[in-house]
Amino acid sequence: MLSKCVKDIPDTDQLYVIMMNLLEDRHVAIGKLGSFLFHKGTYIYVGSAKKNIQARVKRHINKEKPTRRWHIDFFSSNTSVIGFITFPHHKGECQLKDFIQKQFHGTVVAKGLGSSDCSCDSHLLKINDVDNDIDKLCLLQEWSEQ
Ligand SMILES: [Zn+2]
Repeated sequence: MLSKCVKDIPDTDQLYVIMMNLLEDRHVAIGKLGSFLFHKGTYIYVGSAKKNIQARVKRHINKEKPTRRWHIDFFSSNTSVIGFITFPHHKGECQLKDFIQKQFHGTVVAKGLGSSDCSCDSHLLKINDVDNDIDKLCLLQEWSEQ
């Protein structure tokens, strides 16, 4: 569901989508993957947490991170979070990524980012800029209703 606050995320949800805005073109080193040039714009990250999804989302939307644990940490610390949406089923992580990629013409900047455990090119997508980014998160609700 599309929650306004982290505390409203249902405990049973296991999938999350974080929408971020990068304000300027920037080279970012993503751990061992190397350095990539990210163009300014809107990015979507798809991840999963088998438990404690509130804590996970909270961690992603906090700019300051005590440690850089995941690839996405290297990127997200450069961005402003626009919003997030969560879903119940954990197994659909890659299908959700595919759906977003098609729906929003998502492109991959850093191959391998967030997809160490699957065969996807990346779980971070740059999406086309439009005026109402947050509406795109609402559109994603349809995915879980399919
Ligand atoms: Zn995947």
